[in-house]
Amino acid sequence: MRSSKKYVDETLKKYQLTANKALGQNFLVNQKITDKIIENANVNNNSIIIEIGPGLGALTEKCIETAKQVIAIEIDNNMCNILKDEFKDVSNLEIIHEDFLKLDFDNLLNALDKNSPITLISNLPYYITSQILTKLVFNDYPINTIVVMMQKEVANKLLNPSLKDYSPLHVLLEYKYNLKLITHVSKNDYLPRPEIDSMVLKIDKKQPIYQITDEQKFIQIVKSLFKNRRKTIVNNLLEYVNSKDEAIELLKSINIDVDCRIEQLNLEKIIKIAKKLGV
Ligand code: SAM
Repeated sequence: MRSSKKYVDETLKKYQLTANKALGQNFLVNQKITDKIIENANVNNNSIIIEIGPGLGALTEKCIETAKQVIAIEIDNNMCNILKDEFKDVSNLEIIHEDFLKLDFDNLLNALDKNSPITLISNLPYYITSQILTKLVFNDYPINTIVVMMQKEVANKLLNPSLKDYSPLHVLLEYKYNLKLITHVSKNDYLPRPEIDSMVLKIDKKQPIYQITDEQKFIQIVKSLFKNRRKTIVNNLLEYVNSKDEAIELLKSINIDVDCRIEQLNLEKIIKIAKKLGV
């Protein structure tokens, strides 16, 4: 069992390594949590699981038991070598030594069996949680279910963002996904022990209630609207219209206060603006 203190201790000793803090290496050492993640990942024996940051294989071990194919993407060559060694007899696991943020993910996904549902799981490296989620959510990848573990504060801000925290990532999540808390994870369930507790979230693609024809343009507009939070929406719209008057007219035509700032707009109003700009 790889999600145990004993395995992590012994394996690091065997390969004469220590956890690399700069890469966010906090290994999961509670099997109940690995079980919960897999139980909630909608996985069957026809599924493909993509794991970001397999580390010493706590989740990988469960994935290969459950899915048809597992692709694990790991930045640390030491971890890749351990996994290749420890899982050398496993035929349904592919280990890719890459930085997930730099990986051509479209290319990887295109090569997979189109008849198999794809699930993404990860005990996310905490230093790039938002960047990984942004890459997953801002691209139209054919992934229906994402189950990820992250620091408690970050998870709470995704589940219940305050106006101050609301960002393009939140807009896209609200537009395209359902978010659900799966479980809390104590900091004692990791080795080495991090400063704070974590949470596991399930992020499921949903049928959006608003029709958008050009999602990439929509994302660009949302990013522009959030660029200068202190400025009024009129100012943030100038990238897309010819004058302030035109921006004012646009907002008036959809009954949005011309003096408002981005934090005063909900998803519906943001979509209304984007639609006026042709998405
Ligand atoms: N999955 C293991 C577990 O649950 O015990 C390890 C999780 S640990 C929190 C995060 C893992 O992500 C580490 O193995 C780390 O080396 C890896 N990692 C960090 N940055 C990465 C990146 N940019 N791309 C892929 N993997 C990365």
